[in-house]
Amino acid sequence: MILVLQKGITEEEIEQLKDVLRSEDYLIKEIKGVEETILGLVGTVREDLRHYEVMPGVAKAFPISKPYKLVSRELHPEPSVIRVGPVAIGGDRLAVIAGPCAVEERKRTLEIARWVRQCGAVLFRGGAFKPRTSPYAFQGLGEEGLKILAEVREETGLGIVTEMTSPTQADLMIKYVDLVQIGARNMQNFELLKSVGRMRKPVLLKRGLSATIEEWLMSAEYILSEGNDQVILCERGIRTFERFTRNTLDLTAVPVVKSLTHLPIIIDPSHATGIREKVSPMARAAIAAGADGLTVEVHPEPEKALSDGPQSLYPEQFKQLMRDLYVIAPVVGKQLDFKYLEKAKMMGKPSEPGTKPKKVVYVGVPGSFSHKACRQFFGTEIPHENLPLFRDVFEAVQNGDATLGIVPVENSLTGSIHENYDLLLEYDLHVVGELALKIQHNLVGHPSTSIDDIKRVYSHPQVFRQCKEFLAGHPGWDLVACQDTATAVRRVKESNNREEAAIAGKDAAEIYGMTLLREGIETCPRNFTRFVVLSHGEFLDGPKNKSSLIYSVSDQPGSLYETLKIFAEKRINLVKLESRPIHGKPWEYLFYADIEVDIRDPQYRQVLEELERKTEFLKILGSYAKGFDGTDDTGFGEDHGSTL
Ligand code: PEP
Ligand code: MN
Repeated sequence: MILVLQKGITEEEIEQLKDVLRSEDYLIKEIKGVEETILGLVGTVREDLRHYEVMPGVAKAFPISKPYKLVSRELHPEPSVIRVGPVAIGGDRLAVIAGPCAVEERKRTLEIARWVRQCGAVLFRGGAFKPRTSPYAFQGLGEEGLKILAEVREETGLGIVTEMTSPTQADLMIKYVDLVQIGARNMQNFELLKSVGRMRKPVLLKRGLSATIEEWLMSAEYILSEGNDQVILCERGIRTFERFTRNTLDLTAVPVVKSLTHLPIIIDPSHATGIREKVSPMARAAIAAGADGLTVEVHPEPEKALSDGPQSLYPEQFKQLMRDLYVIAPVVGKQLDFKYLEKAKMMGKPSEPGTKPKKVVYVGVPGSFSHKACRQFFGTEIPHENLPLFRDVFEAVQNGDATLGIVPVENSLTGSIHENYDLLLEYDLHVVGELALKIQHNLVGHPSTSIDDIKRVYSHPQVFRQCKEFLAGHPGWDLVACQDTATAVRRVKESNNREEAAIAGKDAAEIYGMTLLREGIETCPRNFTRFVVLSHGEFLDGPKNKSSLIYSVSDQPGSLYETLKIFAEKRINLVKLESRPIHGKPWEYLFYADIEVDIRDPQYRQVLEELERKTEFLKILGSYAKGFDGTDDTGFGEDHGSTL
């Protein structure tokens, strides 16, 4: 049963209502959304809904139609994000778990962990208790294996994922493991499910070899009903009549599961296919289908592996797969963040004494593209605050109110956001990172709106330009400018008028409970907005491969050419050059340049000195690690020493 509570209900009133419900023996789950608070009740449901609707504070009651209750999307409309240490699964960044099938030997296990960590994996897998089809096959190293995994975590910072095969291993799991895996063969081992339900550790629940999606979700319900709602589902292939592959990967499970439950879902392409060459294509397809991550078997010498060698990727294959996923992820609104754990470490450090707690600032309301960029770059571990103006972001970072800020600087279709270029000049801040966000626009309206009802459409003026072709098909619509896309959706929601619609991203529609009437209406699907990250000082250690500069040159023939010649001669790739008028000096210009090197690296000292000589004014905004820019040149791999 779901009870939607009245708007404006106080905490005290909620507690009183819960007391009444507890006295009727209900298990209660409270879910606070942006718009409303709901209580989910599990227990014996009364037929007559009025029993609930007359309770003080209840706006509406309706039964949950599915046999699984706590995992159902009806109860919990927003997707759940499950945290495994600093890693969030189900959020805006992909989580890739990688490692061998089984822990076999200490040195090689550490080597493979270092490698997958460098390639962008955020969790390490390896079985210590192996449920094998044959009793004569390698059964795993047991606690010895767990100790090796603990060493991996200690050295690399990767959280540990391993399988638990019996409730008697609970203490070992609590001691050594970050994410407890329930294997396919144990999906309906109900005593085991109850045991992990009581463990308060996140659980990776694999789908049984011949389990229906409903049976799988019922198994998840066992874990949640014991009080543990930290469950991640994992599709790993099911048994069908097809024998070419080890199992048949059911990728339809991704959208189906996402519509039925709020729990995140990852894919295991290794066990699903059983054939090395088939793993990467299915992994790429899984991410394109919207999975929240992957678990992939990787082995340095798969020919010698004690289990599942034929399906384990060679280290180089895993690296290539990660490069591909990096390119695919933005298309489905996600990012593969190669700096994930470094950022988490930096964010996790306590603030310096005398400074304010860490915080990130952006412009716009929740659900806007800036908010999405903020979540994709930083995750959600560190608080985000939205401010009304771009200048406020610069100001907050400058005066120490915020640790970092993120602002858009250009769109691939409509060009630069000049205000931010001017602010970059005015404020003394460093550009310490960048992110290119794939922008998909949708026509958003009330669930009952039909496209023929629409008379007025709200959005940001740039967005109207990006959707020119679609809008040309509806010449009668009145286009009304709004500060940002999420504000546009909110206006339409509040007006409650079916003649109004907004153009915005999916997130804004989801937050305000609105419907996507048309998806992907931007004229060009290669539509990216580039954001830069601002900080007072350095942000992340490690190699950098891009720098942003502002400079001016003397008013003489060839003076700009002289500066460009420096880059050309040193074969430095110039990826952006833009001029901006200098305020108060009519017809004089500043040049904003992005180059693909770390200009502050000692090897470019001469370049910098020469640039200083050839310019009248030079400001280095910062050097940082290049982000994805909509092309397939990731620049990834330069810092990969061979460890194998
Ligand atoms: C595993 O991940 O090592 C494993 C045994 O998987 P499954 O339970 O899906 O067969
Ligand atoms: Mn395996």
